[in-house]
Amino acid sequence: MKQHQRTGVASERELKKHGVIPLLSRLKKGPVVIVECIENIPCNPCAYACPREAITIEGDLTGLPKVDFDKCNGCTMCIARCPGLAIFVVDYVYSKIHATVALPYEFLPRPKKGDRVAGLDRSGKRVCDAKVIKVLDSKAFDRCAVVTVAVPRKYWDKVRSIRVAQRK
Ligand code: SF4
Ligand code: SF4
Repeated sequence: MKQHQRTGVASERELKKHGVIPLLSRLKKGPVVIVECIENIPCNPCAYACPREAITIEGDLTGLPKVDFDKCNGCTMCIARCPGLAIFVVDYVYSKIHATVALPYEFLPRPKKGDRVAGLDRSGKRVCDAKVIKVLDSKAFDRCAVVTVAVPRKYWDKVRSIRVAQRK
């Protein structure tokens, strides 16, 4: 697998400018992918990862991924395929007050379902408490697990990684 190719922290303004963030009307329909990849890097596993062909890269390898939000059902299968750790799935309507964020997680030990962790923003700063509701870990994922956490809904577009407390 390629090394991480994400070289900077994208601002919310940049992400919006590139059409990365789904409209609220789509978010309210259920889980949907958010591909936070706005650097023209030579990379394209995401374009082959989606069984519904919701992600495409036009032109050569350095084109930016484009998402058809209506094709995506939020299955999370593409998350671990991205070497840049740039793919997330948000369920904005997980409950009345919580959203979920499914995110890539490469560290060991893995968190477990039910764990309380810290939700971090794109720069690694703590945003809120988060609860682990699902952990997908497979050899096919090449050492990257997919962890889904529930967070207060207002942080659906802020939490993009987690910090797991050391177990004693
Ligand atoms: S979450 Fe599933 S359906 Fe959506 S883009 Fe990723 S692989 Fe495709
Ligand atoms: S696999 Fe990840 S880093 Fe590579 S182009 Fe797709 S979203 Fe960007």
